[in-house]
Amino acid sequence: MARVTPKATDPIPGLVEDMLAALGEDPTRQGLKSTPARMSRALRELTDGYGVAPEDVIAGAVFDQDYDEMVVVKDIPFYSLCEHHLLPFFGHFHVGYLPKGRVVGLSKIPRLVGVFAHRLQLQERMTKEVAEALAGAVAPKGVGVVVEARHLCMEMRGVQKPGGQLITSYMLGTFRRDPRTRAEFLDLVRR
Ligand SMILES: [Zn+2]
Repeated sequence: MARVTPKATDPIPGLVEDMLAALGEDPTRQGLKSTPARMSRALRELTDGYGVAPEDVIAGAVFDQDYDEMVVVKDIPFYSLCEHHLLPFFGHFHVGYLPKGRVVGLSKIPRLVGVFAHRLQLQERMTKEVAEALAGAVAPKGVGVVVEARHLCMEMRGVQKPGGQLITSYMLGTFRRDPRTRAEFLDLVRR
């Protein structure tokens, strides 16, 4: 079968075309003609977090600030691809930290989430990575991260009921040690 997409520098369109054929499709039919190129572009976009260092995202937005109450950013939406099936999982991050003389610009926390979400991921690992990146950047007294997400690899295959959420959390410093700090954070997240 003749290739629809010429194999240029990007090998992904050719691989997608082979995959379509292996699935029993005809990659030359009208509706699929542009699919390999489109899927390649989409996959590149959804994994563009590989090219970005988390510390670069935060660099320049860390400020000395005499504020020692808890900072919480709730309901940060994310979309990611699970590394086991390359199918979407998506939901929300809730991120809190207790500053120790330094704070980070609030818009940087969703950016940080985006960098880790745009890689092939496991929810558990991503939860920890965001917590540790934030801890590394602002050296706070503690960090808490809660992630609620739906996994299409489970829902579409019937492994899990549609709409069911997987919840993960990762606590560092005072969020791990001090039950009151953790309770305050979880209370703000639930509210
Ligand atoms: Zn999966």
